[in-house]
Amino acid sequence: MYDHLHNDLLAFDAILDQARTMAGDYLRSLPQRPAAAHLPAELSASIALPADGEGALATLQRFERDHVPLLSGSPGPRYFGFVTGGGTPAALAADWLVSTYDQNAQRNGENGTTLIERQAIDLLRQLLGWPAAWTGACVTGATMANYVGVAMARQWIGHRHGRDVAADGLLGLPPFAIFAGSAHSSTAKALSMAGLGRNTIQSLPLLPGREALDINALERALIERGDQPSIVIASAGTVNTVDFDDLVAIGALKQRYPFWLHVDAAFGGIVAASPSRRGVLAGIEAADSVTVDAHKWLNVPYDCAVIYTAHLPLQIEVFKNHSAYLPAPIVVEDNYLHLTPENSRRFRALPIWMSLLAYGRNGYADIVDRNCEAAQYLGQLIESDSRFKLAAPVRHNVVCFAVNTDKTTTAALQKQLHQDGTAYLSPSVLNGQPILRAAICNWRTTKADIDKTFTTLQKLVS
Ligand SMILES: *Cc1c(COP(=O)(O)O)cnc(C)c1O
Repeated sequence: MYDHLHNDLLAFDAILDQARTMAGDYLRSLPQRPAAAHLPAELSASIALPADGEGALATLQRFERDHVPLLSGSPGPRYFGFVTGGGTPAALAADWLVSTYDQNAQRNGENGTTLIERQAIDLLRQLLGWPAAWTGACVTGATMANYVGVAMARQWIGHRHGRDVAADGLLGLPPFAIFAGSAHSSTAKALSMAGLGRNTIQSLPLLPGREALDINALERALIERGDQPSIVIASAGTVNTVDFDDLVAIGALKQRYPFWLHVDAAFGGIVAASPSRRGVLAGIEAADSVTVDAHKWLNVPYDCAVIYTAHLPLQIEVFKNHSAYLPAPIVVEDNYLHLTPENSRRFRALPIWMSLLAYGRNGYADIVDRNCEAAQYLGQLIESDSRFKLAAPVRHNVVCFAVNTDKTTTAALQKQLHQDGTAYLSPSVLNGQPILRAAICNWRTTKADIDKTFTTLQKLVS
C-alpha cells in the first residue's frame, strides 16, 4: 500500500480527531466570526498536483490555514442571506456519519438505508401534517425536487395525449401551457432541464401588493385551455415576502379543469411545523407533487430536499433504470434508484431522520415560531427608525427593507454590513426597488442577535 495511505490507515483516529477539533473550533467561533467571508480580489485557481502528496493531517492543516478564513459563517446565528438554515447538532452529527458509513442509498437488498429514508420522509410528512398517501424521495435540493415534479407533470400530460413521454419523447405532442404566479427562478431551470423550455412559463397577474397569484386570472387562463391539460406551479412561500398562493382555491379549480398542480414549498412548507401558522398551507393536499427543502428551514446541512407526490407510478415511469445488475422497478415507494435523477445516492435521509427524532414536533415548532417572532421584532425595529423603510409587511420569517436617507443607498448598506461582518443580509429587488432582505431560518438565532444586527445597521447609516 502507498506510504501515505498506509500511514493514514494507522492514523485514522488521529485524522478524525483533527477534523473534530477543526469542527469544534469553527462551531464555537460562529457567534464572533464574520457572518460572511471577505474574499481577496485575486485567488489562484490553479495549484500544482503533488507527486507524493503530504498525507491527511498536513492537508487538513493546509485547508484550515488557507481556506477556512474564506468560509462564511452561514451555519451561525446572524447569517440571514438567501434562505439559509444551519445544521442542528443531531443533523450535523448524522451528516458526518453519512460519509463514514458511505452507503449507496438504493434498495439493492444489501443495506438498510431505504428503511431510514422511508421513515425520514414519513416523519417530515407527519411534522407538516401532509397526506399519509403521499410518497417521497430525497434529492439534493429544491431545484432537483422541482425538476422531478415537472418531469412527472410532463409524463402526466403525455398520458392525456396517449403518449408515454418517458419512452417516446415529447416530439409531436400538442403544445401545453405552464402557469405560475411568482415562481422561483429554479422553476425555469427545471423546465429547461425537462425539455419544456424556460420561456414556456406563463406568469399570471398577482393580487395587488402581493406575490400571490390572482385566482381569477388563473381560472380565465384555464377556461381558455378548455379540456387541454396544463401544469400549474404554485408558490408556498416566495423568497422575498413569504407569500403563499391560495391552495384551497387552486384545489377547487382542479375539480373543474385538467391540470397538474406542483407546489414549490421549498422553505415555506416548514411553516407548517408550527400549528398556529399552518393555515397558509391549507389545501396543499390537492397537490400532485410538492417540493420541500431540508437544508433550509429544517436546519439539515447541505444538500438535502424531499419531493413528495401522489403519483408514484408516474415517477417510476420517468426515473426507472433497469439493467442486468439493477433490480426491476416494481412499484414500491422505497425503490429510490427508480424515483430520482441520481443512480448512486448519498444516504442524505439520515440527517433528517436524526434531527426529527432528536427534537420532535415541539422542537421544530419552536424553531419556526422563534424565527418568525425574530422577524417580527426586526420589522418593528426597522419601523421605529425613520432612516429605514419596510418594503413589505413582515410575513413569517423574512424582512425586506430599504434605506430611507440620503446618506447612503440600500446597495451600499448591504456592502457595508457585509464588510462589518456582524450579520449578512442578501441584496434583492422588490417591485423594481433595491432592498435588503433578512431571511431568519437558523435554530441558533436569538432576539439578542436581532438587536446586535439592528444596532449595527443603525451605526452604519449614521
Ligand atoms: C431556495 C429555493 C429553491 C431552490 O432551492 P435549492 O435547494 O437551492 O435548489 C426553489 N424554490 C424556492 C421557493 C426556494 O426558496
